[in-house]
Amino acid sequence: MTKPAILTVDDDAMVSAAISRDLRNRYGADYRIVRATSGPQALEVLTKLALRNQPVALIASDQRMPEMTGIEMLERARTHAPDAKFLLLTAYADTDVAIKAINDIGLDYYLLKPWDPPADRLYPIIDDLLGDWREANPEHTNDIRVVGHRWSDRSHDVKTFLARNHVPYRWYDVDREAEGLRLSTLAEAVETDLPLVLIPDGDTLRSPTTLDLAGALGLRTTAQQPLYDVCIVGGGPAGLAAAVYAASEGLSTVIVEREAPGGQAGTSAAIENYLGFPKGLTGSDLTHRAVAQVTRFGAEMVLAREVVGFETRGPVHAVLFDGSGEIEARALVVATGVSYRRLEAEGLDELTGRGVYYGANASDASQCQGDDVYVVGAANSAGQAALNLARYAKRVVLVVRAAGLDATMSRYLIDKITAAPNIEVRYRSEVIAARGEGHLESLTLADRDTGVSEGVSSSWLFVFIGASPRTDWLGPNVARDNKGFVVTGQDLMHPNGTAHWPLPRSPFALETSVPGVFAAGDVRLDSMKRVASAVGEGAMAVYLVHRYLATI
Ligand SMILES: Cc1cc2nc3c(=O)[nH]c(=O)nc-3n(C[C@H](O)[C@H](O)[C@H](O)COP(=O)(O)OP(=O)(O)OC[C@H]3O[C@@H](n4cnc5c(N)ncnc54)[C@H](O)[C@@H]3O)c2cc1C
Repeated sequence: MTKPAILTVDDDAMVSAAISRDLRNRYGADYRIVRATSGPQALEVLTKLALRNQPVALIASDQRMPEMTGIEMLERARTHAPDAKFLLLTAYADTDVAIKAINDIGLDYYLLKPWDPPADRLYPIIDDLLGDWREANPEHTNDIRVVGHRWSDRSHDVKTFLARNHVPYRWYDVDREAEGLRLSTLAEAVETDLPLVLIPDGDTLRSPTTLDLAGALGLRTTAQQPLYDVCIVGGGPAGLAAAVYAASEGLSTVIVEREAPGGQAGTSAAIENYLGFPKGLTGSDLTHRAVAQVTRFGAEMVLAREVVGFETRGPVHAVLFDGSGEIEARALVVATGVSYRRLEAEGLDELTGRGVYYGANASDASQCQGDDVYVVGAANSAGQAALNLARYAKRVVLVVRAAGLDATMSRYLIDKITAAPNIEVRYRSEVIAARGEGHLESLTLADRDTGVSEGVSSSWLFVFIGASPRTDWLGPNVARDNKGFVVTGQDLMHPNGTAHWPLPRSPFALETSVPGVFAAGDVRLDSMKRVASAVGEGAMAVYLVHRYLATI
């Protein structure tokens, strides 16, 4: 945790050194003593401290300074350090102004100079002031602060990235919270600077890209080596499992993930069918554990990088990053899973990220406190999301095209949804339009049998309507079906698939049409689309990588 600061302000170099020395001697272990030699410089220092989220406990300022008096400076400092205690160092002649400042600017104490001996004349007063300050400010979390507009898609992306990478942060709405406005004013932020990301003891990022954000947080965004035994693309359950097995078995391993480890499973509020966790566990918990395991075995993780291209160069395979950079490896495991399909309805695209979301993180739910929320979808992911959102929302409406849920959702989820008092299921319904100025304000729902449509007010729509793989980056040589799922193993040997397989030996079970390139998890044609099967395939891919490496 950052030490709270004590700021001393005095234009006389000797007095400034003396007060700082005396304060450091007694309080240096618990507080950071910072010096300024003029009012304007003090305000500059305070701006920096505020943007870095460093609490200021006390400002001790001389009154008589040429550019700005101590009282003038302290009056302005209230915006920068709202909770700080104010101490004015005065000469006898300034007693009246000091007493007036107690009312006018909330001065806490004035002290006549000189203060020798400090043990009698300085420390008892400071002890009191700091004691009060500590009591009023028991905790100073060192969280990152994000300041932005509630309905900004960029703010949403930044918050999602932080949440999914398990980085604690505090969110300040610049339109609705005084603290949000204060921080944005201090940073002199213009509209295009939002969201601001204030890193404790670090920089103030202005509307950062995911890559900038990852870099500022110290996450690794480039590979350490030019060549690995195995490169895994995708950090969902399949990719993480592959990394654990590959690294634990001595293969030099790197895993590349474009968003956050955990994949789809990482967004799940409750995974109840994963072996060994009878009470279920959150996707975030599972991810946290898996990442710790990956790290412990020494696999490298490269985050916030999207793989956009693939090349085979003799015995090695290369994956190319968006922007610049690449990794070469002897074997490749494609574990890129699937992404939500887009819902076709009028007005939806413009509002995506501004009230309309594809998928939902467990942490999104609290933002819907007291609101009406619409969820589209009929599979387990929609069911889980509806239940999670219902913990905070006033009402959750699940919009389902079919006449029932039995064919698409697990029984345990249907039972919970039926029992939830604030979840309503609208069968044979669909969203046909969305409207709003700057963010979602209303939806039009249509009855699929009667064609009758109805407008409803809502600021939240979460869409879970099936998913498809995004595998274009694999290029023409890696065989896929017409939806983009990667064909592996014996499926390559079907009469119309043989053309894809180039070697006399048969492909290994999870091997694609390019020898040495494997696919695991949801991205693979005919995979089971479950956490356990993705984990199993990730582990199995590594066994096959070993067998492949023995052939080259
Ligand atoms: C909300 C929800 C709840 C679910 N609940 C359950 C449940 O309770 N039980 C269950 O068994 N299953 C559940 N599932 C399904 C389960 O999560 C998936 O089957 C599983 O996550 C698939 O794992 P995967 O590793 O194959 O792919 P994914 O989880 O999709 O992970 C793929 C990863 O690859 C990354 N990636 C994709 N393309 C690239 C690229 N080009 N470059 C770099 N990285 C890339 C993605 O960002 C992602 O992190 C749920 C799914 C969802 C969405």
